Amino acid sequence: MSDEQQPDDKPGDTLQYDQARWSEDDQYEPLLSEKNSREVDVETPLPDDLTRDSLELPDLSEPELARHYTRLSQMNYGVESGPFPLGSCTMKYNPKFTEDLAARPEAAVHPDRPDETIQGTLGLYATLSEYLGKIGGMDAVTLQPPAGAAGEYTGVLIAKAYHEHNGADRSEIIVPDSAHGTNFASAALAGFDVVELPSGEDGRVDLDALAAAIGDDTALLMLTNPNTLGLFEREIEAISELVHDAGGLLYYDGANLNALLGQARPGDMGFDIMHYNVHKTFATPHGGGGPGAGPVGVVEELDEFLPAPRVRETGGGYELFEPAQTIGKVHGFQGNWLVLIKACAYIARLGDEGLADASAKAVLNANYLAEQTAYEVPFGPFHHEFVASAGEQDAADVAKRMLDYGVHPPTTKWPEIVPEALMTEPTEIENKRTLDQLAAAFNAVADEDDETLETAPERTSARRIDQVSAARNPRLSWQALDNE
Ligand SMILES: *Cc1c(COP(=O)(O)O)cnc(C)c1O
Repeated sequence: MSDEQQPDDKPGDTLQYDQARWSEDDQYEPLLSEKNSREVDVETPLPDDLTRDSLELPDLSEPELARHYTRLSQMNYGVESGPFPLGSCTMKYNPKFTEDLAARPEAAVHPDRPDETIQGTLGLYATLSEYLGKIGGMDAVTLQPPAGAAGEYTGVLIAKAYHEHNGADRSEIIVPDSAHGTNFASAALAGFDVVELPSGEDGRVDLDALAAAIGDDTALLMLTNPNTLGLFEREIEAISELVHDAGGLLYYDGANLNALLGQARPGDMGFDIMHYNVHKTFATPHGGGGPGAGPVGVVEELDEFLPAPRVRETGGGYELFEPAQTIGKVHGFQGNWLVLIKACAYIARLGDEGLADASAKAVLNANYLAEQTAYEVPFGPFHHEFVASAGEQDAADVAKRMLDYGVHPPTTKWPEIVPEALMTEPTEIENKRTLDQLAAAFNAVADEDDETLETAPERTSARRIDQVSAARNPRLSWQALDNE
């Protein structure tokens, strides 16, 4: 940003931000049981050797409980605290009307009830499958997989079943080097050899490299479009032709679908199988390990391989059936029902125009922010996200420091083709004021020295945590903490 900027073009201010600290030693908000607990006698009709005589339980008033959870929320950062441009994850605000619908008594349906008594539930499955099919340009959709990664695995199994059914022995799956780690994992888990495709100089698929990698062994090429750099694969039709001419199939990783709603459809680009991350694109809550859903769509030629059971319309109602060559079940019942209700409600509320508008704004916001940031942005123009480089700074330090300015950091150090990557996805939910604040935070951090960065964050409830131990040695209950 330059000194000559006009008043109405003035840079945004950074936020004055401090996260709450509630305990005396700045460590943590005490557990409920640490605040006050008492032994409670236990009487149950269960056998004595399975039960205890008494149980220590927290003993607190309702206001104490309410304050405890409010305090915890104030020590945390979420999409309801401020901007959350965590690239690839599409951290949209989740509108509350979808929660109201999922909390209605009619939504509490036991999945084992006979089909004729859950016609409304089956109808919603059919409606959502139809919506998703139209949005992606796919002919049939399963709602079963519980996450994007599970959708990928399901898609890979469908490709495997298809080739086996045709008597073809194809052992390889091609994945670009910019792909999400789950693409490699899904292919390997299903028993395929993974062929990594180096990106071209423009950050996109290099057609010559692809032609060299493709052959009789190719079962599948997995792509996301726009790719993880936020760049549209302009040669997608040529790519599709190369893959199909070699007898392979084309898989679409739907994590970046938020760039395309109502604008373009993977099915029209030649993709045969795709997953939808409804917890990304269709604003259902995610993060913190909560449930999501990763429905999978396929073209007509592959629908008989979809997981069982599927839902179909009969004269005036719905029933479950098993596709002829099904790969079997990939999750209990039809998947994460309450998540699917929210996705369906969100799509219905936005409608065709609303969805197209959301994607248009997501793309505009990413390009606006890319223009405002002082960090170098090597590629472009972008779709829904861009990848800046922290340059001489360590991207992980930049991320920690951004929290001090009251914004959630971007995704860091991925994709690896951009050194010290800051993968940034503001989504359509932010307005210009918030984007300017976000840019101001970026630019303030860009000017800071190593010492400030290495000791950040300063203003959060917890400072630097030991991330490796947290991942390798999680303590998931207070008993685990107590036993140390
Ligand atoms: C998030 C993501 C996935 C995996 O989806 P999950 O729902 O987290 O399992 C796959 N590919 C890309 C590009 C992603 O961003």
